[in-house]
Amino acid sequence: MNFHILTLFPEMVREGLNTSIIGRAMEKGVIGVNAVNIRDYARDKHRQVDDYPYGGGAGMVMQPGPVCDSYEDLCKKLGKRPRVLYMTPQGTVFNQEIARELSREEDLVFLCGHYEGIDERALSLIVTDSLSLGDYVLTGGELPAMVMIDCISRLVPGVLSNEESAQIESFHDNLLEYPQYTRPEVYEGLRVPEVLLSGHHKNIETWRRQESIKRTLTRRPDLLEHAVLTKKEQEFLRKITVSEEKACREEEIVIE
Ligand code: SAM
Repeated sequence: MNFHILTLFPEMVREGLNTSIIGRAMEKGVIGVNAVNIRDYARDKHRQVDDYPYGGGAGMVMQPGPVCDSYEDLCKKLGKRPRVLYMTPQGTVFNQEIARELSREEDLVFLCGHYEGIDERALSLIVTDSLSLGDYVLTGGELPAMVMIDCISRLVPGVLSNEESAQIESFHDNLLEYPQYTRPEVYEGLRVPEVLLSGHHKNIETWRRQESIKRTLTRRPDLLEHAVLTKKEQEFLRKITVSEEKACREEEIVIE
């Protein structure tokens, strides 16, 4: 899978993605990262790519010409017109489901804005999807692009080894992951849960699923609406929900 990033700061993206698991995947050729400098498509000798906003106001706006030209040149080289994801706080908030869907594409283009953003006409001409990292404003689209590329890459076959598998972790079945433990067996007086030492795979699996459900209920109850649960697990969830509500009521009584 190939990620093409249209940016004014290509070195930031290259250096940011060039380590650990994603760096190794690039070395193996499982994924490709192609950072394109929008400034190379500037139309004047000063290599200017931004200008004052029409109508006045603070900040500078990236001009449409260099942005569109960098994309058109890329399309010519690739012989196709891949999806263009514009990084913007005004977009749909990125999540694991979107990552899964995007991981099926062969090529993706990430368009990074800077300053006050990009001239609306360029956006209307080339952007297919608008994605946000969250409800806050960053200085540029490079960090969101890197976060999304990291997340999507993990879902591309061959990027993670077996030990790093992305099969069962947070957001699988719309649940958060169960707690994890490694050696030593006792740390600062805290023991690893007995079931994990039992070697009984069925019990371990049941314990992990139940811990996932408990954790999701306390930390991210909003996810549970779409969680994929067996009949037994639904019953378990109902019971812990009832006991949690009871505990809350008792707490209220104590406070009063
Ligand atoms: N004036 C823009 C607005 O209010 O929507 C914000 C511009 S922001 C300072 C500069 C660039 O950073 C944006 O064009 C976008 O590419 C990127 N950016 C900022 N916050 C982001 C977020 N939460 N998610 C994705 N991209 C973001």
